Amino acid sequence: MSNKKEFLQELISFLQGKGFVWGPEPEIYGGTAGFYTYAPLGKLLKNKVEEVIRKTFQQQEFFEVECPIVMERKVWEASGHLKGFTDAMISCVKCKSNFRLDQLLENYPETHTFKKPEEYLEFIKKKNIKCPSCGGEFKPDIKKHDLMMKTRVGIDKEAYNRPETATATYLPFLRFTDFFRRQPWFGVFQIGKAFRNEISPRQHIIRMREFTQAESQLFIKEELKNNFEKYKEIENDVLPLWDYKSQKANKKPEKIKIKDALKKGFFKSQAYAWNIAIGYKLFRNIRIPEDKIRIRQHFPDEKAFYADDAWDIEINTRSFGWIEVCGVHDRTDYDLKQHEKFSKTELKAFDEATGKKYVPHVLEIAFGTDRPVFALLDLFYEKKEKEQGKTIFKIPYHLSPIPIAVFPLMKKPELVKKARNVYNLLQKNFLCVYDETGAIGRRYLRAAETGTAFCITIDYETLEKKPETVTIRDRDTEKQVRAKIEELKETLRALINEEKKFEELK
Ligand SMILES: [Zn+2]
Repeated sequence: MSNKKEFLQELISFLQGKGFVWGPEPEIYGGTAGFYTYAPLGKLLKNKVEEVIRKTFQQQEFFEVECPIVMERKVWEASGHLKGFTDAMISCVKCKSNFRLDQLLENYPETHTFKKPEEYLEFIKKKNIKCPSCGGEFKPDIKKHDLMMKTRVGIDKEAYNRPETATATYLPFLRFTDFFRRQPWFGVFQIGKAFRNEISPRQHIIRMREFTQAESQLFIKEELKNNFEKYKEIENDVLPLWDYKSQKANKKPEKIKIKDALKKGFFKSQAYAWNIAIGYKLFRNIRIPEDKIRIRQHFPDEKAFYADDAWDIEINTRSFGWIEVCGVHDRTDYDLKQHEKFSKTELKAFDEATGKKYVPHVLEIAFGTDRPVFALLDLFYEKKEKEQGKTIFKIPYHLSPIPIAVFPLMKKPELVKKARNVYNLLQKNFLCVYDETGAIGRRYLRAAETGTAFCITIDYETLEKKPETVTIRDRDTEKQVRAKIEELKETLRALINEEKKFEELK
């Protein structure tokens, strides 16, 4: 544990120092837990991650929408959030700190099945569990802490910042059915801010009070859930699945073909299995290593209040161990029916073949973009053993915040002039930096620290020989090759997009 804590401290100071993440903000006022600034490099990385997410969804014919963040009270009454979106909380008598009950007891899986407050209180007493901050006793009282962040609209209309993007995505349902011309299934997604008034968020950007969600919603006629045309595309994919029975028996996750998982009854429908496969694909597309991902089934008593089938995708981070990064839920017809009831507007689709109306089911892939960003920072940050105090950010090239750096070998006018030309040429196509200060070795190190994939150096050979060439230096292998300036754009594009390997260059 202390190793993880030490690593996290080291990582956070790296993220602050190099300009990835700042906070908790506002720093100059002392900071409020759960609010962070993405500094220039962090924001570039987050944008890239979101671009990959966008592309992955769009390749599956999902369309992006952007709905309001603030919605009136009635919406959240209907969705169930006003009543059901709470955390059980317990307070320390001595230091008055508040703790989430599930976090306090996370190392006691036997408490998973507890229902009543008395059961928890008795357990805490029996195991002699004390306040993690000061060692004090807990108040014999379990409170429900409301996670909704309240605001108002106009003079006094009660409203809330959305705690998830999903609900906002269901409300224009009738508009969608027109837009998608009454197809029996269609997909939409949103990437946007959501808010949760956590009791005491402490885990950097993986648990914030204001965060970015990315959630897709597949609306589908119930009868098609087990006759889903896109299922064929993924039925032979292999996933690292960890069903709850294996968890109970202390067995490891199993690599299993999706069609076999369905046979085993892990998933109730083809459509659900397809959503799991797309969720997994997303995290592989941002290059989370295969051995750092598992897909974990919820225990029957652990599911969210709306969920039918429920599995989470988890990533093994160095700072926190396994963290949940994505939930895939079959929300059935729950949401549309609720909003139909509360809005008194019929929310049904029309089947042109039978002339009948029906309420589609909704399957969602729900995750955020902050946790994947954190996972990438956590997993690809490295300390160089040989060179003391030197660090490197080995982010996959296509996600590199600033993929290219251009250097003159030395600060001589003729080299600087040519280097500036090359920089201007590349800058039209890539985000790149120009750097002429300090020894070339130091500049290579600076670039590696910020994750820059390739450094371009202009030297005397560039000026003296025809055709004009520069050196390209690979961040991870530190190898260099000469490349023609006239082909440089294409060469770099192929390298960044992994269409070409560095070793293939001559
Ligand atoms: Zn205490």
